[in-house]
Amino acid sequence: MGIKGPKGTHDIIFNDINKWHKIESKLTELMKLYDYSEIRTPIFESTELFLRGVGDTTDIVDKEMYTFLDKGNRSITLRPEGTASVARAFIEHSGYNEVLPSKFYYIGPMFRYSRPQTGRYRQFHQFGVEVIGSINPYLDGEVLELMMNIFTSLGINNLNLEINSVGCPVCRPIHKENLKNYLKNNYNDLCPTCQTRYEKNPLRIFDCKNEKCQEIISKGPLITDHLCNDCNEHFDKVKNYLNMTNVEYTINKKMVRGLDYYTKTAFEITAGREGAQSSIGGGGRYDGLIEELGGPSLPGIGFAIGLERVVLTMEEQGLFDNQLKTKEKVYVANVSENNLDAAVKLVSELRHNGILAINDIMSRKLKAQFKYANKIDADYVITVGDDEIKNNIYPLKNMNTGEQIFCNINELIINLRGV
Ligand code: AMP
Repeated sequence: MGIKGPKGTHDIIFNDINKWHKIESKLTELMKLYDYSEIRTPIFESTELFLRGVGDTTDIVDKEMYTFLDKGNRSITLRPEGTASVARAFIEHSGYNEVLPSKFYYIGPMFRYSRPQTGRYRQFHQFGVEVIGSINPYLDGEVLELMMNIFTSLGINNLNLEINSVGCPVCRPIHKENLKNYLKNNYNDLCPTCQTRYEKNPLRIFDCKNEKCQEIISKGPLITDHLCNDCNEHFDKVKNYLNMTNVEYTINKKMVRGLDYYTKTAFEITAGREGAQSSIGGGGRYDGLIEELGGPSLPGIGFAIGLERVVLTMEEQGLFDNQLKTKEKVYVANVSENNLDAAVKLVSELRHNGILAINDIMSRKLKAQFKYANKIDADYVITVGDDEIKNNIYPLKNMNTGEQIFCNINELIINLRGV
């Protein structure tokens, strides 16, 4: 038995990589349109960053981090998400001295030690966006519209965007007290985890899967019904932006982002898949995070999309069929071994003219080469034999139509350049 990849990881291999390339090229194309620039941060950081930047009462930090001591006895964590790293890099490189807002996007692997299942991995990939430096609610609108544009541009159907406002340091502490007062009478009926949450972070009880906890919390006060004026106005403007740009959404008052520095707008998106792994992306505003991490008091907002789930959704919705080939393929067959060098030279010339060309590297007989050309879905086949070389006239066969024309090397290039 050979060695297998670690539990919860997966390889992207064979035809699957084309699916990823298709998604990634759409993402980078859209990022140019919205004028976001890429940021690449390390895949590991000091553990402390995530304790402060994600929060030690979240499941991610509580249970799911890949944390270890390196040889210098430093506590290191494989990044479980992207926002904290982007905020750290922004502060470290004095991004606040640059023109604001800073508009970043990232794409890369994330690591969470959770029980693997369909759509849930220990190493998975996220595409994310972070904008730092603007409090304007129309920025929330832009970020949401951008996220939805990504999904619709990929052709994804059954999208459901849920939004909420989770308040700010003015209205949230009051709400927290109200919630605690309400929960006090039900404390004994809460599950042990929620009893701890009651002390540390009662808003997180909304995330509990326990039926009894859900029943209790669903009758409690909702932050969205008790927002301060500023948060209310902000939320109205976000909704206005979404209406103006024809982004459909529903309001989910029970959606929370249970950290103190998450503020105002929070959102989550699904695309028709059922169950616990149905979320394909989510995000929100984090006006307290940059300061929490030692930077100036600057607001921020962002989202992350789970790329494995995007791939899964697109597979289920049949969105990869017949679309993965980006360039036509030309196969140059050599009639006998004596013609191999001429085929090699021709392939090289075609490639230098921007044409995707390949030739035999398995010492196959001509018939087997034609078979191979079919298998790899070649669009054109050029055959190189003694007569062709002598006369500088080559048959160029269009494999899709069966049509064959004869031309010299210059004409081959002219004919194939446009494909
Ligand atoms: P989060 O950072 O938890 O808000 O996650 C953002 C997105 O990443 C989710 O909507 C999922 O699509 C994806 N995601 C989160 N955790 C995992 C995981 N363990 N495996 C695969 N995708 C994940």
